[in-house]
Formats: sequence, C-alpha cells, structure tokens
Amino acid sequence: MINVILLGPPGAGKGTQARRLVEERGLVQLSTGDMLREAKSSGTEMGRRVAEVMDRGELVTDEIVIGLIAEKLEGATGGGFIFDGFPRTLAQADALSELLVMLGQSLDAVIEMRVDDAALVARITGRFTCGNCGEVYHDQTKPTKAEGVCDVCGSSDLRRRPDDTEEALRTRMLAYYRDTSPLIGYYYAHKKLRVVDGLGSIDAVAADIAKVLDKG
Ligand code: AMP
Repeated sequence: MINVILLGPPGAGKGTQARRLVEERGLVQLSTGDMLREAKSSGTEMGRRVAEVMDRGELVTDEIVIGLIAEKLEGATGGGFIFDGFPRTLAQADALSELLVMLGQSLDAVIEMRVDDAALVARITGRFTCGNCGEVYHDQTKPTKAEGVCDVCGSSDLRRRPDDTEEALRTRMLAYYRDTSPLIGYYYAHKKLRVVDGLGSIDAVAADIAKVLDKG
C-alpha cells in the first residue's frame, strides 16, 4: 500500500482529493485538521486549548499534532495512508519520517497541489461540509442537490468552519507560506515531490493525481 502526503495551501482541495483516494483506493485519510476539530467539539482539555488558535487560523503546536498522528499510526496495521494537512512544518516532516521508519513504512510521494491565491478566497469562503459524513460542498461549484440536505447521507447538519472567514484565511495563508511551503524544497530534495495543477475540476485533479500515483 502506498503512503502519500497532499501538500498545498488552504483551499487547494486536499480534503476533497483525500476523500476520493479513500473511496477509490481504500487508503486511510489522516487529517490533523479533522482530528483537531473533533477534539474541539468533544470538549477535551486539548480541544479547549487549541480552539482559539485554530479559529484565528494559526498553527497548533508541533507537539500536539505530532502526538495525534503518532497515536493514529501506532494503532494502525500496514500502510496506505494519505496525510492531509500534515506535515505543516519541517519539524513535523522530520517526526513523520521517524514514525514511518519505526513502522517499517516509507513515503511514496508528496503531491503538491498548485493553485493561485486568487482562487483560494472564493473556494474557502463558499465551502461547507456535512457534519455527519464529512462530504465537502461549495455554494457555487458544488452545491447540494436538495437545499440544506447532504447528497451522500441525507443529513441536514451542514456546517461552515469558523476559520473559513477572510480574516482567518489571511492568517492561514501566511502560516502556509512561512511554515509549510519550505516543505516543497524539503521533499524535492528527498526526490518525493510531484506537482499537480489544483485549479481544474475535482475530476480533472483526481485524474492527475491518479496518473502520478500509478507512475510511481
Ligand atoms: P485544516 O483542516 O487542515 O485546514 O486545519 C485547520 C486548522 O487546524 C489549521 O488552520 C491549524 O490551526 C490546525 N492544524 C491542522 N493541521 C495542523 C498541523 N499539521 N500543524 C499545525 N496546525 C494544524
């Protein structure tokens, strides 16, 4: 089974494409953003600590996110992981590589989803997700078929993220360029980096990712 990282700024489509890979290839999606949101909504001590940081659009500490990923990886058998939103700093990238070595796993590819900044504001401010099954929607590009009801599971628990505002997005973009974009050079140097154009339709981007993964 392959292990892949999806890398890109907020709104690049990492979560959407990760869900496709889960469906089409039976991979396991490891999204630190989802794990942190879960901790937040279940009201754990850690969730309370990270809530404000997340809502402002800043990064949570390396210690917390590495701990979350380590917990998931240690409980998993075999590989087949898609890392979505992790790693976001060089320290996280080093920690991931150590964890994978410990598990006897390796990283097959890091897919950089390239998009231009102008597209991100529109993508992010229009998006909402199903609180029950996690399906991702967009007001303009992917509305639900019936107003207010999830196409996939029928739930009416459709939610917008508190950090999907223009102000929090500015902070998230800054964090991406300052802390995360150095990973592009890091994985290029490790000969793991592959680039796809993230601006196409969901199907077109999925097809590009499939090409990259099947080429090895
Ligand atoms: P995401 O759903 O990936 O956009 O993540 C939402 C928020 O969770 C981010 O803006 C950060 O506040 C936090 N977060 C998620 N993943 C990480 C990470 N790997 N390192 C630090 N903070 C993270």
